[in-house]
Amino acid sequence: MPKPRTYQTEAIVIKKIKLGEADRILTLYTPNLGKIQGVAKGIRRPRSKLAGHLELITHSQVSLARGRNLDTIIGSQTIDSFLPLKSDLWLTSCALYVTELINQFTADHVENYLLFQLLLETMHRLCQAGDIELVLHYFELHLLDEVGYRPQLQQCVSCHSPLKPATNAFSPVSGGVLCPNCSRSQFLTYSLSVNALKVLRLFQNSDYNTASRLKMNPALSDELDKVMSHYLEYLLEREVKSAAWLGILREQAKQTAPS
Ligand SMILES: [Zn+2]
Repeated sequence: MPKPRTYQTEAIVIKKIKLGEADRILTLYTPNLGKIQGVAKGIRRPRSKLAGHLELITHSQVSLARGRNLDTIIGSQTIDSFLPLKSDLWLTSCALYVTELINQFTADHVENYLLFQLLLETMHRLCQAGDIELVLHYFELHLLDEVGYRPQLQQCVSCHSPLKPATNAFSPVSGGVLCPNCSRSQFLTYSLSVNALKVLRLFQNSDYNTASRLKMNPALSDELDKVMSHYLEYLLEREVKSAAWLGILREQAKQTAPS
């Protein structure tokens, strides 16, 4: 059976780029279709009916028409514009950080309902006045779970012995924690205090209600920032490299393919 020409989906707008004089290509994260792209025609014109409903970081119901290359957005209705995120520069940056990570760690058309839920809940949590750092770190750990990079926090990633309550080390390259012994022979590790390891484990293994009761002091928060940002940076660099590498392979395959 041919696919219907138009379809509808709930979506959060995670990226926008300009196209031509008045259009945009929007990247949408959806519950059942994963990440998709759509052209919003005329959206940059002052009287566009779409404009208000397809701002970056908006939860909308979207109608699309299938196209040969890109689908076209033909209608949209806001479900939640996450207003608090747009009236505060710091919160805007936090929300953009979240959508950027979702965009970077996902491929088009790969459904991940739990990741959509995580994105939606994170936007709601950012809207509520609370511990924003905690919201972001909780998001990071659960994002890593969903995209297949869950860090190993229970045993040493090298010798597999259970981690002792001592200052261990986080290794982005190994994807988890190294015991003091193993960390001596490894480059690019970041020291991880007993408390920071406890917090990472709590975030990884608890629901948000439990995790959100935690009170983090600034030193602990800084430590988590450092460890998580190095791990995410390492993974993204690798993703970008592997994507670039795939592109090269594809080009080579095209050139050597018999015509
Ligand atoms: Zn070890």
